[in-house]
Amino acid sequence: MRQIVGARYTLLDGEAAADHALCVDGDRIIAAGGLAELVARYPDAELVGGDSFILCPGFINAHDHGRALGTLALGTLALGAADDFLEVWLAGLGSLPQIPPYLAALYSGLQLLRGGVTGVAHSHNPARWADMPAEIPEAIRGYRDAGIRVAMHPPIIDQNMLVYAERERFLALLPPDLRAQVGAADKIDLSADAYFDMLDALYDAHHDSVNHRVHIQVSPAGGQWCGDGLIHRACDWARRQNTRAQMHLLETRYQRRYAYKTWGVSFVKRLDEIGALGPWLTLAHMVWVEEEDVDLLAERGVGIAHNISSNLRLRSGLAPIAEMVAAGVPVGIGLDGQTLDDDQDFLREMRLAWTLANRDGMAAADLSAKAVWRMGTSNAADISFGAEAGLGRLDVGARADLVLLDWEAVRGRWAPMEFPPSELLPAFSLRRAKREQVRGVMVAGEWVLRDGAHARFDVDEVEREIYARLDFVADGGAPELGEYLREFYRGWDEDDLPPLRR
Ligand SMILES: [Zn+2]
Repeated sequence: MRQIVGARYTLLDGEAAADHALCVDGDRIIAAGGLAELVARYPDAELVGGDSFILCPGFINAHDHGRALGTLALGTLALGAADDFLEVWLAGLGSLPQIPPYLAALYSGLQLLRGGVTGVAHSHNPARWADMPAEIPEAIRGYRDAGIRVAMHPPIIDQNMLVYAERERFLALLPPDLRAQVGAADKIDLSADAYFDMLDALYDAHHDSVNHRVHIQVSPAGGQWCGDGLIHRACDWARRQNTRAQMHLLETRYQRRYAYKTWGVSFVKRLDEIGALGPWLTLAHMVWVEEEDVDLLAERGVGIAHNISSNLRLRSGLAPIAEMVAAGVPVGIGLDGQTLDDDQDFLREMRLAWTLANRDGMAAADLSAKAVWRMGTSNAADISFGAEAGLGRLDVGARADLVLLDWEAVRGRWAPMEFPPSELLPAFSLRRAKREQVRGVMVAGEWVLRDGAHARFDVDEVEREIYARLDFVADGGAPELGEYLREFYRGWDEDDLPPLRR
């Protein structure tokens, strides 16, 4: 069944076009043009949308963890998962209640679709490392059932679980009981060989390079948590399978410091030395990148996932996003499960990224609204699923992943109908649009959200099931380490590194 989707304005890669309707057949956009022209060409097509909507490509969330309830849910504040410095926060993260991976992914997918997100890069947090081969297919099934595309990142680490370096100095800070407890616990029961065997099997069973519903990608979880050999092997695997690698990098000032302590050069230069930088790689966060390394990232075609809310909530700082975009680095937006209002509102995240990227001083680089729309759509798609997947765009031949925003609600009461002119529309709607104003979401030709309601699931029902099955007896997490971690890393602040303006 063909459909013609019309709107007052259509946002085409960050630019607004008036009277630009799309014809969808199956999971593809087969034609674009004026509404009257398309109706004449396809007289049997169903008409959807209309003058009271803005039409834009589905958003792509370039980095997340699919935690379903966020990290503040259900009194876990008291269990140590309150927002804090990343290094302290991570020590409490294991105390979050466990949710069965199918339900967590299903609910996360539904939440994202509600805000117009049609594809997500999911960095998995295993309940237990050794159980990951069973958890990942369940998470994939959850996202599939929700109706959202997923780029799945099973993580692997092989070093520095407790602190980034100087483990013995850290252990010496602890009282004897705690020292014995954490000194025995900081290892993972998943070898690199077992991990890559699992990845091969997942790739064969689930990677979809035709319709791009599911990608299997590789994730050495963070620069400081993975040795050179592991990072190298991961990048090799991604290139061999023609898929991608995603890694957390330079999220905090202490990760920057770790690179200089270990190699005497920046993290980016070190990764380049070992041949890890290339168009197959996406780096999440990148708050503490040296400005002189930005051109190298652009030259190598490395993608960056920008997580502005998370970087604020975990006190990491502000990444030089305008400078990266100006240098030609492909930057996408990711929610990291840590949005400002803890509600996975992608439109607000774009607004925040835009606002905070434009810094004080007339000499500061500018980040335009158009660039931010691209960071949420085409750029995010390219760094999450690869450019060949053709997601995040409304071109003829592209996959039909669409969002209809309520134009009347975005416009508000005060603006005359002819305002804003279409050249101002991207900035106007980026400043004002919210997830509640997302009325329709199409993924691969299917309306998974209609009139603001999920078509496949009763979300309240899914939520009730999650609450009924929460498991509070998880064994991870050591929130009492917080004060010692602060003391330990405070010792790293007295450094002789050139300061970065963040
Ligand atoms: Zn993350």
